[in-house]
Amino acid sequence: MGRHTEAVCRLCRREKDKLYLKGDRCYSDKCGVVRHAYPPGEHGQARQKFSEYGMQLREKQKARRIYGVMERQFRRYFKEADRRRGVTGEILIQLLESRLDNVAYRLGLGRSRAEARQLINHGHFEVNGRKVDIPSYLIKVGDVIAVRENRKNKPVFKEITEARDQQGTVDWLEVDHEKLQGRVLRMPQRDEIDVPVTEHLIVELYSR
Ligand code: SF4
Repeated sequence: MGRHTEAVCRLCRREKDKLYLKGDRCYSDKCGVVRHAYPPGEHGQARQKFSEYGMQLREKQKARRIYGVMERQFRRYFKEADRRRGVTGEILIQLLESRLDNVAYRLGLGRSRAEARQLINHGHFEVNGRKVDIPSYLIKVGDVIAVRENRKNKPVFKEITEARDQQGTVDWLEVDHEKLQGRVLRMPQRDEIDVPVTEHLIVELYSR
């Protein structure tokens, strides 16, 4: 999968919002948004006025950046959300939220979605006892996500465990910190997903 190569704090500053892309640093006063609360670049501090299209585009970019999804894949999520019954924007966010890298992050098994994604790519995770190294794997209710037994002693998981309190927990997942695993109790409602995205603008963008 393609990745953003731009310095990640610039992505937050572009959106003028904390997107929590870097783990520990995001919770400290070294956060790029805290230190420079304006978009990057020569004209970053100039007053910005967005057209309707511009606002829709920014919202879509923000969602993509939070979940670390490239354009083509993001569009596929939208098509799937549009196909399903219900409120398209909410289903879109739910689909993104059910990606394995996001769920691992929500369980506190990665300090950021990017770190969780890398650990999954490296084969450290299993779902229902079977190794899964695909970050975009969509989890379902009842799935058990765990760090594989022979990977649990890796120093990175000790570091992650020590940093875990900063992230907090979510009600739709059951976490077993000792075993480095968790279970999906139910899919989250939109108001339980704390991403600062106005999804109806994304729907409007793709419906043009
Ligand atoms: Fe965004 Fe985290 Fe960088 Fe702050 S530290 S700007 S939240 S990636």
